[in-house]
Amino acid sequence: MQLRVRALETVLTEKGYVDPAALDRIIEAYETRIGPHIGARVVARAWADPTFKKALLADASQAIETLGLEQKVGDHLIAVENTASTHNMIVCTLCSCYPWDVLGLPPAWYKSTPYRARTVKEPRTVLADFGVTLPADKTIRVWDSTAETRFIVLPMRPEGTEGWSEERLASLVTRDSMIGTGLAKTASEVAA
Ligand code: FE
Repeated sequence: MQLRVRALETVLTEKGYVDPAALDRIIEAYETRIGPHIGARVVARAWADPTFKKALLADASQAIETLGLEQKVGDHLIAVENTASTHNMIVCTLCSCYPWDVLGLPPAWYKSTPYRARTVKEPRTVLADFGVTLPADKTIRVWDSTAETRFIVLPMRPEGTEGWSEERLASLVTRDSMIGTGLAKTASEVAA
């Protein structure tokens, strides 16, 4: 796959269709300025501000726009909330659709065939592979992304974080917790 991508990039560069420096700059932006920091900010705000959380769950694209980010967030982003009774996971069974605008570059496993195929069939086993074991009575909902519709998981706020600043709360939010293959860090993990 890497060879095919490199060959394609070489041909496109030779034909003058793409500029390698521009590609590098786009990748750098997604890695260092966009994701998953923006997603973490969004989750932290939702934990701290019930009005924002309500708006986020009603229309994530619109709610995130009010945060004054430099880049517009995709046309149809849906936030799904983890609760005591329900855990959400995100996949793209068809290909690799991912909320780049809030989470940055997708991890390699997200695009892999096993993740895409197994998540819809045996989400609990996939979660266990990621080191996450949920109570047997907890419902797992799997959301299938498309080119138009992307999802972000709103993880549960860890206990013992009352009164934390948004910045500190954001440090609890991992990329995987917003895909649903992980949980937010615990308060003691961040304090340490
Ligand atoms: Fe896709």
